[in-house]
Amino acid sequence: MDTPKIDKRFWFKHKGCEGKHYLIGNPHTFPGRILAWCPIKKIDFCVSKAEMDEISESAQYWLEGFLAGNQPYPPLDDNGDLDFESPEYKNWLLEIKEFRKTGDWK
Ligand SMILES: [Zn+2]
Repeated sequence: MDTPKIDKRFWFKHKGCEGKHYLIGNPHTFPGRILAWCPIKKIDFCVSKAEMDEISESAQYWLEGFLAGNQPYPPLDDNGDLDFESPEYKNWLLEIKEFRKTGDWK
């Protein structure tokens, strides 16, 4: 693949590889998954926040916005409405809190 247009501010260290890697965008695989670029292997690949070691300040802002916009919808009741008092909704709140922190969706 040709080197994609990368923004050098959005770097992170990838566990299991060397040097800086760069955030590219959304691979549309599953929630929290991010498309990134490895300059050593010259490939794009999918990565989650949990697989990142060091993250640049700019990349941290990028990730926060990405995960906020990427969090799965809350569960709906039988009428297709949100029930803010349901145990499912309360559990979802805990799950997205964890998701925003780790980037992993169970
Ligand atoms: Zn790499």
